[in-house]
Amino acid sequence: MQPPVDRLDTSLQRVDDAGSCGRPSTGPRQAVARGHHERVRVGSIELIPLSDGIAKLPQDFYVNLDFARHPELVAGDGLVHIPLGCFVLRSGERTALVDAGAGPRTERTPSWAEGGELPGALAAAGISAAEIDIVVVTHLHSDHVGWLAPPPAPDGETAHRLGGAHQPFFGNATVRYGAADWPEFVIKRAADDPTRLAMEALARAGRLHPLEGDTVAILPGVTARHTPGHTPGHYAIVLASGTARALLLGDAVECPLQLEEPDLYAMSDVDPALARRTREALWRELEGSDALVGAAHFPGLQFGRVLTAQGRRWFA
Ligand SMILES: [Zn+2]
Repeated sequence: MQPPVDRLDTSLQRVDDAGSCGRPSTGPRQAVARGHHERVRVGSIELIPLSDGIAKLPQDFYVNLDFARHPELVAGDGLVHIPLGCFVLRSGERTALVDAGAGPRTERTPSWAEGGELPGALAAAGISAAEIDIVVVTHLHSDHVGWLAPPPAPDGETAHRLGGAHQPFFGNATVRYGAADWPEFVIKRAADDPTRLAMEALARAGRLHPLEGDTVAILPGVTARHTPGHTPGHYAIVLASGTARALLLGDAVECPLQLEEPDLYAMSDVDPALARRTREALWRELEGSDALVGAAHFPGLQFGRVLTAQGRRWFA
């Protein structure tokens, strides 16, 4: 039986032993998650966290974070390790994937991204790539689009099979992304930029269906909501079924510590001031509610709630 939404299985907190950004202020020490995790039920919607691997980031990626006060965030190599999170959603007969990881490791993969694990995590969860009807990417940063249409394998075998070009990895999926990200992450990029090549391959294959407007229906009970700032076209995903509710925040929030330390932001925020306003609006909506909250890079891909008391907010 799946854990009900109001009794989230604490095994979601099991993970490796390194530090990781923004662990909740309560609960066991936990960190980067690999592979797949406990399924969660949000009413009739099934939510399955998966990881494509880990990102290893320098401390100065986090602006206004005092690591002397948070030594637990730093791994033994001096870097901050965070999961490359993805989430499978099942609603009725339909299956969606939220975010597509960093993709297979190639000579173009940035050194900070140790991805490549999503296909194995899907298989371990009993999900085939062909079952995915829709892939929603919260935004077009490279650690969220990697498996959409990856490059040919370096050994030439896959390259031959695929005709040497980027090809859709999810053979039956429509790909949804924020239209406002297209100029920044496709048009303005070099002709050989991996994200540009992938998105252009999907466009040629007729797979793209951009998201526009404040809210867009994705599946029954699943809605994308425009949450700009991290990128112009960033969307969070809202799940609602019966009285149960959950939000997948993508990178609108990089780590739970941002709840307690609003000056903290990631270098990757395209518009830090707008990103901060978006976070504040999210916190106001979520504080004290029963909504389950997760994000692409939260430690252990674990879910929590936004709690508030005596003027303080925190994630637990
Ligand atoms: Zn990210």
